[in-house]
Amino acid sequence: MHFTEPVYRNPYWPTWPLLEITRGCTHNKCKFCTMYKGVRFGVPDMETIEADLRELAATDPHARTIQLLSANPLALPYDRLAPILEKINEYLPEIEYIYGAGRVTDFRNKTVEQLRALRDLGMREIRLERINKGYHAADILEQCAKLDEAGVRYWHTFLNGVAGTSHSREHTINSAKVFSQTNPMVVGTGGLTLFPGTPLLEEAQRGEFDPLDERGLLEEVLLFVENLECDCSFITHHTVGGANLTGPDFLGRKERIVAALRDEIDHGDMERMARRRAMKTTL
Ligand code: SF4
Repeated sequence: MHFTEPVYRNPYWPTWPLLEITRGCTHNKCKFCTMYKGVRFGVPDMETIEADLRELAATDPHARTIQLLSANPLALPYDRLAPILEKINEYLPEIEYIYGAGRVTDFRNKTVEQLRALRDLGMREIRLERINKGYHAADILEQCAKLDEAGVRYWHTFLNGVAGTSHSREHTINSAKVFSQTNPMVVGTGGLTLFPGTPLLEEAQRGEFDPLDERGLLEEVLLFVENLECDCSFITHHTVGGANLTGPDFLGRKERIVAALRDEIDHGDMERMARRRAMKTTL
């Protein structure tokens, strides 16, 4: 198999086969992310992709799921993406679920009919990339409406902490309100970690960015949850007093999630959380 480091695997599907159809990230400008900093965006040629598919067909001929790499493979225009999905179906005839990530802007150049055709080829689920620059609420609403119409399900990620203390409230309420006007399958969130080498850490060190502390991050998640009205699953990387906030039926569990967050804000061990965050090495 041909892989370009780093390889990001969706942690919720640790066993899905991976197929590299792009390298790096078309955007590569999020101030909190260094993941693909050393990688120039590129596309392997079809022979390489086909060689990998042959290998997958030999080792996992009954594969029903697959994750496309890398950061936003759905940036490929329809005319390049559709033949790749057709090849996946040819080599792995039992495939049902082709999962990949894309920025909201990656869908501007695809019509509803094209998105529907991609869904029919297996692209049933996508994760919308967690960037906070380069598009506006109107983009999110417009592109999500197209995905809804085409029957493609999508994940949203709330960028908990990325607006700093000064813009936390507006960022949080705006995100929740925009997400609430869409129909995501999953909404996820995890607190911002400032990793070495990121522009955001450098801004914080110069005093130009005012990061939230652990309590502030949790208060922001609480505000987000209070304002979110999506009938979806909810995923968070925050550990709250041992309670598992992750699961389906967000609206049915919303009151319990709010109560658990409030309790953690009042009684949680913030120093322990900060120590755990300091041990993180990737997003
Ligand atoms: S967070 Fe995602 S979209 Fe932003 S630079 Fe990193 S990989 Fe690219």
